[in-house]
Amino acid sequence: MNSNDEAWHPLLAELDAWHAGGRLATLWWRDDDAVAPTPALDRMLRLVERFRVPLGLAVIPARLTADLASHLRDLPLVSVLQHGYLHRNYATAGERAAEFGAQRPLELRLRETSEGRRILEQFQHAVPIFVPPWNRYDRAIAPGLAQQGLRAVSAFAASEQLSGKICECNCQVDIISWRITRGFAGLDKTVRKLTEHLRARRLGELPIEQATGVLSHHLDHDDGCWEFLEAVFARTVTHPAAKWITPMDAVARIESP
Ligand SMILES: [Zn+2]
Repeated sequence: MNSNDEAWHPLLAELDAWHAGGRLATLWWRDDDAVAPTPALDRMLRLVERFRVPLGLAVIPARLTADLASHLRDLPLVSVLQHGYLHRNYATAGERAAEFGAQRPLELRLRETSEGRRILEQFQHAVPIFVPPWNRYDRAIAPGLAQQGLRAVSAFAASEQLSGKICECNCQVDIISWRITRGFAGLDKTVRKLTEHLRARRLGELPIEQATGVLSHHLDHDDGCWEFLEAVFARTVTHPAAKWITPMDAVARIESP
C-alpha cells in the first residue's frame, strides 16, 4: 500500500460501513463559475464522461458566452445551475463578499434572479437551483425565489431551513483552500472532510438522506485539484455503497426524505 492508498483508507472504510448497514452513501458534485467553453471546462467534462458522474455546473447568467449552451448540448449528465446574476460583489468594506446579500433592495435582487433564470432557458439541461456567489445570501429572498419556480438554493456547509417551498441543498466539501493556498486543500484534509460528513449522516447526527456535496471551481484548479477529482471518482464509482446522484435528485431527497 502506498501513501496515496493510505490517504483514501478512511473514506473507503466509511463506505464499507455504509455497505454493511445496507445503505447507499449519496454524493453530488457542484462546480462553479462557468461562463464559456475553456480547456479547463473540457478537462472536467472528460471526467464526467469517463466516470459517468453527474455534474451540477453553476453558470453565471449575465456573463455567459453564446457558445456555452451549444457546447453543453447533448450532455445529459451536466445540469446547469443558476450562479447569481453578474457575480458582482456588493459588500461594503469590512463585509464578506456577496452579490445577493441584504445590501440592495430585495425587489432589485429578485429582478436579477428572474432575468438570470430567463437567460439560462437556452440550456437544454437547466435546473431550478440557485447558487449564490461566494455561497452567501440574504435568506429573505427565499420565498421570492420559490415564486420564480426555483426549488433549491445551494450554498456551503450546514443547510438551513428556508421559508417558502424551497430548500437548501448545500455542498460541504470544498476541494480548494481559498484562504491559504488558493489551490488544492490537500488530500488528507479533503478525504477527512468527506469522510466526516458521511459518518455524521450514517450515525444520525445529520439527516442521512441529505447527499454529501463536493464543490470544485474548474477555472481555479491546480494539479492537486484535478488529481483529487480523478481519484475520488475512480475510488467511489466502483464501490457498491457509493452513489453519485444528480443535483435534482439531491434536492428531491431533501424535499421528501
Ligand atoms: Zn462563484
